[in-house]
Amino acid sequence: MNNRWISDVLKQTYGQKIYKLSLQSGCSCPNRDGTIGVGGCSFCSEGGSGDFAARVAPISEQIAEARLRVDKKMPSSLSDSDKKYIAYFQSFTNTYGDTDMLKKLFTEAINRPEIVILSIGTRPDCISDEMLDILSSLNSIKPVWIELGLQTIHEVTATRINRCYTLSCFEETYHRLKNAGLTVITHVILGLPGETHEDMYATVRYLSTLDPTLDGIKLQLLHILKNTRLYEEYIESPFHIMSLEEYTEVLINCIKLLPEETVIHRLTGDAPKALLVEPKWSANKKVVLNTIVKRLRDEL
Ligand code: SF4
Repeated sequence: MNNRWISDVLKQTYGQKIYKLSLQSGCSCPNRDGTIGVGGCSFCSEGGSGDFAARVAPISEQIAEARLRVDKKMPSSLSDSDKKYIAYFQSFTNTYGDTDMLKKLFTEAINRPEIVILSIGTRPDCISDEMLDILSSLNSIKPVWIELGLQTIHEVTATRINRCYTLSCFEETYHRLKNAGLTVITHVILGLPGETHEDMYATVRYLSTLDPTLDGIKLQLLHILKNTRLYEEYIESPFHIMSLEEYTEVLINCIKLLPEETVIHRLTGDAPKALLVEPKWSANKKVVLNTIVKRLRDEL
């Protein structure tokens, strides 16, 4: 069984391709509202790092709207009752809000027959014991994925990008989530300002030694987007931007460092073209993916 890539894992588990529905919980982020930080992580856009998500509305309406967009990509042979989705709460910090409201929202989403997985993006400093109990009980209905945006293990970079939590906070939450039986996926950004290739490999090496093993990883190219602090920093003092060839090489070396059991969920990332400043080459998603996939075939 090929269990390296999330698309293969989902196909093997559910017998078909599973599509993501980007949904909104209405939560903000403590790193943006002044609770623990102001202005947010330097790379984070106004949309809270989820610029393709639906507007905040009742969950049934959000799902219906997201399905209208996603269903266009599905084979016409698939009947409505056979369509399966991941309910994906990506933007902002989706465990940072009223727990009763979030419990109701997530429960409603996970109980929909067309939803097979609930995926929740959040920060490791925003999962209270009460929230952990809620997530754990939802996980007994259907799989719950918790996506933690670590980005880097290096405190110097974490300070530079204004992440506002420590690596030990990530590690503690990781173990709490794993002990509660949840699936944990970690986001890593490749190409953060000031980081060398070796710094990026050190982050991936650290994640590869976590015990229990990390369930999944999203390897993401750093995007500089308009109206972000990172953009201001870049304009004031430009830093190195990786070429497609360089990114592909770093990416492949990162994948080689990961244990076979860690499923790869993302190889690059999507940025809204209207906001993308650098790397310009990343706007051509087809060329990017073809280049990466060809190198992957040659090297793995
Ligand atoms: S934690 Fe997430 S939502 Fe909050 S500022 Fe950072 S990237 Fe944006």
